[in-house]
This record gives sequence, C-alpha cells and structure tokens, in this order.
Amino acid sequence: MRIFKFGVAVQTKNENNRLVDAFNRCVSYLRISITDRCNLKCRYCAPYDQKRIDKKKLLTLEEIERLVSIGTSLGITKVRLTGGEPLVRQGAISLVQRLNDVEGLKDLSLTTNGTLLTKYARGLKQAGLKRLNISLDTFNREKFRQLTGHDSFPKVWDGIQEALKTGFDPIKINSVVMKGYNDDEIEQLAALTLQFPFHVRFIEYMPIGAQPHLTHPYFISVVEIEKRLSRIATLIPIASKPFDGPAKRFRFKNAKGEIGLIGSMSTHFCGACNRLRLTATGHLRPCLLADEQIDLRHSLRQGATDEQIESIFLEVVSKKKKQHRISFTRKTALNSQMVNIGG
Ligand code: SAM
Repeated sequence: MRIFKFGVAVQTKNENNRLVDAFNRCVSYLRISITDRCNLKCRYCAPYDQKRIDKKKLLTLEEIERLVSIGTSLGITKVRLTGGEPLVRQGAISLVQRLNDVEGLKDLSLTTNGTLLTKYARGLKQAGLKRLNISLDTFNREKFRQLTGHDSFPKVWDGIQEALKTGFDPIKINSVVMKGYNDDEIEQLAALTLQFPFHVRFIEYMPIGAQPHLTHPYFISVVEIEKRLSRIATLIPIASKPFDGPAKRFRFKNAKGEIGLIGSMSTHFCGACNRLRLTATGHLRPCLLADEQIDLRHSLRQGATDEQIESIFLEVVSKKKKQHRISFTRKTALNSQMVNIGG
C-alpha cells in the first residue's frame, strides 16, 4: 500500500504485508509505555512538576493487547514494555502473559528501574517474560538519591540480584552517563560484566525532558566511554544478532557479560531504525526524538475497525524521517518528556 504525501508515494507496506518506510527500513519493533507513573524522579527523565495523566486517558490493558495484535499482523515481531515505571501499573504481569500469547510476537521484553523486582521478578518470569533491562546509573547510594529523588539504591540492587536468581537471560543494565554525575563510575559499571553475566549498556544522555541545568556540559559521548574502557582492558568486539538493536558491543577477556555502547546523539543509528513508539495515552510516534504523533486512543474508543487502526500504523510509518534532528548545538528541543514516551 502507498500513501501519497505532496504527490509523492511513500511506501508503507511491502508485498509481504510488512511495514516499510519511505527509506526502505522495515518497522518491526514497538516500544510501549504502559504508564506515565514512576516511583523515581530521575533528573534527566521526568520534569520536577510532572502532572499525572488522568487514568481514563491511559490505554487499558485490553486496548494495548489489541494494538499489539494489529501490529503483529503488520510485521511487528518485537515489543518492549516501558513507562514511567511499567511495574507500578496494575496488571503489568497479566499484560505480559496476554502479550506472550499474541501470534507473531517473537520477542517481549521490559525496561524497569528495578525497584519492584524483588516483588515481581518471579511473576514476570512465570508470565513468560524472557528479557529484562534494568536502569542503574550509580553504585553510590547518596548519588542515587540525588539523581532519582529516592533512597532506593539497595532496593534496585536487590531487585537486580533477584532477577538474576530468577533466571532472566540476558539482563541488561542501562546506564545513562553524565559528566560530573556518574562518569567517574564508568569503569566500575563495566566491571560488573566480570562478575555477572550482565549486558551493561552505556547510553548517551539525550536532551529530552531535560532540566535546564542538564544540557550539553553533561554530555559524554560513547567514543569517549570506549576510549576510557579500552584503557583498563582490551575491548573485544562482538558481532550483532538479529534482536540486538543499535548497541556497539564488546566484552572484556574472560568476562561473564558484555558491554554495549548506545550513541543516540553522537552516532546516529537512524539508518537502521526499525521502531515505533506507543505512549501510555495511546499516541503512536514514528520517532523518540520528534514531537510528531497520532492519537490511536481516540480512534479505538470511537469504535475503529482493525483496518482503520492499521491505516493509522501505516500513516505513522510514512512519517518516519531519514534521521532525527535533535542536537545540543541546534535549538531543537522537544516538547515531549522521556517519562511519557518511555525511552
Ligand atoms: N522506569 C523505567 C526505567 O527506569 O528503566 C523505564 C522508563 S525509562 C524512561 C527508560 C530508559 O530511558 C531508562 O533506561 C532511562 O535511563 C532512559 N532515559 C531516560 N531519560 C533519558 C535521557 N534524557 N537520555 C538518555 N536516556 C534516558
């Protein structure tokens, strides 16, 4: 099917009924924020004065399941649940169970801050979740409190250990690196891979939902991180597998885990972008770093048919740009907040 924009055909589906954008990128990955609520207030993610969205405006679990089913009929094979904090959403585990049964879905994962994993890791595993990403930016309890507004480091660490005991594989540890905040811990975070089978992912700070004081002086690039790590030991490159995503992967000799570098700002990986994002309020977005979105919730609640919802997926895919336009130098700030999109 082709949608016409200014008289120019924009490809949106190929002959196998798979979503393909105008730049010939197959879209197969949907990241879903299942709540705007979070039990932490990370300074780089949520604004201080974040207002809670009225619960009636959040997609119900049934609506999310329906959208995933429609998505898989269009070639979505990979879904990640995120938030806010997905584990504060009532019914998160039953959602995992339901999505696990959706035909065509091959990979279901969840990103969490880890605070509730001692309680929910086992249930998530039983519900069929295989992969977990857990955010951890520091080992220092006081710094953790300053960065997140909560004294929750011990809970997160216990949660990580619980996930390990429960048998999640792999467990990815997401660390957003910020100069002057936690860049002195890069080596220590990477060293986790010597002791545990974790995949430690260093993520460049993105200027989205940022507080004014957290702008470019806090940015540290993955190139710099790689240089720092290669000074402590040789980094052995690892080839990417189909569900790996954009990380440049390495491991230290004799390590149990591996290291990944995600250069969202310095090394555009837009050329390989295969993602759409669904916000907790049911807005479908072609890109994390663009404000554009289409309201699916409204259509769902107006009784739209599957075909009508499909056509919204196609329209959003047709809006995918070649590359995001966010940078620290250009004045291209986003209105959207990371906590509402899901990272
Ligand atoms: N509450 C969950 C968590 O903490 O992992 C899921 C939501 S959070 C928005 C998802 C990911 O986005 C986290 O790994 C977080 O570190 C990352 N993130 C949030 N704000 C970011 C920013 N400004 N730049 C880069 N990554 C960011």
